[in-house]
Amino acid sequence: MKNNQSNFFFWDKIKENNYTCFDTLSYSISADIAIIGGGILGLSVAIGAGESGLKVILLEKNQIGNGASGINSGFIVPKLRPLPSKKTLFQTLGKDNSETFMELVNSSGDKLISEIKKNNIQCQLNTNGWISAAHSIHISELQKLEYAKEVSERTDIKLLNKNELEMITGLNHWQGGILYKSGGSLNPKAYCEGLSKVAANLGVKIFENSGVKKIVEKNGHIYLTVNNYEVNAKKIVLATNALSGSLFPLDSQTFMKINIFQGVTRQLPEELKQYVLPANTVLTDTSPIQIAIRWTPDNRILTGGILRLGLGSKQALAKHIFGKRLKNILSPVIKQFNFSPNLLDIEYVWSGSVALTKTGLPQIFKISDLASSIISCNGRGVALGSSIGKIYGGYLTQNLSKNYANLIESISCPPAKYFAANLIKLGAPVWALWNEIRQKF
Ligand SMILES: Cc1cc2nc3c(=O)[nH]c(=O)nc-3n(C[C@H](O)[C@H](O)[C@H](O)COP(=O)(O)OP(=O)(O)OC[C@H]3O[C@@H](n4cnc5c(N)ncnc54)[C@H](O)[C@@H]3O)c2cc1C
Repeated sequence: MKNNQSNFFFWDKIKENNYTCFDTLSYSISADIAIIGGGILGLSVAIGAGESGLKVILLEKNQIGNGASGINSGFIVPKLRPLPSKKTLFQTLGKDNSETFMELVNSSGDKLISEIKKNNIQCQLNTNGWISAAHSIHISELQKLEYAKEVSERTDIKLLNKNELEMITGLNHWQGGILYKSGGSLNPKAYCEGLSKVAANLGVKIFENSGVKKIVEKNGHIYLTVNNYEVNAKKIVLATNALSGSLFPLDSQTFMKINIFQGVTRQLPEELKQYVLPANTVLTDTSPIQIAIRWTPDNRILTGGILRLGLGSKQALAKHIFGKRLKNILSPVIKQFNFSPNLLDIEYVWSGSVALTKTGLPQIFKISDLASSIISCNGRGVALGSSIGKIYGGYLTQNLSKNYANLIESISCPPAKYFAANLIKLGAPVWALWNEIRQKF
């Protein structure tokens, strides 16, 4: 496998589905709704809107899954982080919408898995659960309180003490955790491609290599310039995950953009799977840098998180840090069963952006009556992004139940400057460095 310039080379190489690329836009076209961006959110909006029978098109500047959606860790996480308090949710969304929203979050894993099965999406789906593991005794105690709150609202969770967690993961690195049985993992690039087929089957016209260069609003219509052709739309949705640059006057300070790195080891001996995550669950810990770990379908261990500030090439730094981290977490297994620690060297790394919103909730920025931008779910876009996107598509085509329509309105707002946005972007690597130093003492 060659680490070429394509950011999603890894998932692309190991996927097992068939995929035929979509055409490039090479003529002018009109549509009821034009969606910009072929990630999980854009595709899910397209599916939700496509169900109405209206003329929906989707424009992707590169290939489907080119952004965060096709390169992420593929964790199905049916939960927000941090879990907002009821009080915060009531204040932000109102009581009824808070309840609808939390039901949506809690069911997002189950819904995703059943849609994948219903549509026969070949995306190396694993439904063995996701674990949130406590990195300290203090957090483990807080998790018990969190569990007590959550368990009254969902049946898919199980509190794990240190021993139980060790039994499931084979690792004694964490102090306890919560298992979310409706979580799991998938190949994110294959998932995006599967979503694009579902949208296309509903009649959505998808164009790849068709980046939107200009947007003009005139006389109640929106005109997009794409490959020197014109798209005339009644409504547009930007689903560009803060990647659209200066495309539209949506201030980049509306959201906080941070970079997340991923790394995979080389292919490991099958035997190691008996000792490391033998139940094939996926795990994210609660440490500030959020260590994530899973098996990939081709027998590698994937890990990732925010990369700390450091000198030299970021790729080399990521390989060094992730390799060291894995050796630290897996050292008891490695020693006990005489595996070479060098097996855990990182072979490939890559990175992508996550757009965080100020409220920590998904948000829809109403740019005008005709244009909106939907921003994802704070690094939890696979499950929740699929649910929210589909609902927003239904909302745009007035094909939605009242409680969901109210929810969409409660997460809609005008774009606003958030002064800390750039500080957070710059501060994340410093924060990660600070935490690494703290953990040493
Ligand atoms: C490294 C990493 C790991 C992650 N791991 C997980 C995980 O395990 N689980 C999870 O739930 N979430 C995870 N996330 C978050 C998740 O990937 C995102 O929440 C989600 O993919 C965002 O989807 P999106 O459709 O909003 O954006 P994107 O997938 O980024 O899609 C935006 C699309 O817009 C296109 N675009 C931009 N400008 C234009 C233009 N002018 N014209 C046309 N198209 C344009 C881009 O090419 C891109 O394809 C991770 C994110 C990263 C970066």
